[in-house]
Amino acid sequence: LLYVIDRKICSSCGLCADVCPVEAISQIGVYRIDEALCVGCGLCSESCPTQAIFEKNA
Ligand code: SF4
Ligand code: SF4
Repeated sequence: LLYVIDRKICSSCGLCADVCPVEAISQIGVYRIDEALCVGCGLCSESCPTQAIFEKNA
């Protein structure tokens, strides 16, 4: 599974980047997930207080 951040919902709190075990989430203006690094664990989605992270259909 891949996950994406809805930038319209994201509050830029940074929690998802903190919990990601492979450091796939970085902030370059907006928070984004590097699909080449993401292993689909879902921790970021579970940790997001605004529920801005969704599974992306491949
Ligand atoms: S699903 Fe897991 S590996 Fe992928 S960005 Fe979220 S925390 Fe990181
Ligand atoms: S945890 Fe959610 S609100 Fe916080 S930076 Fe990540 S996507 Fe945005």
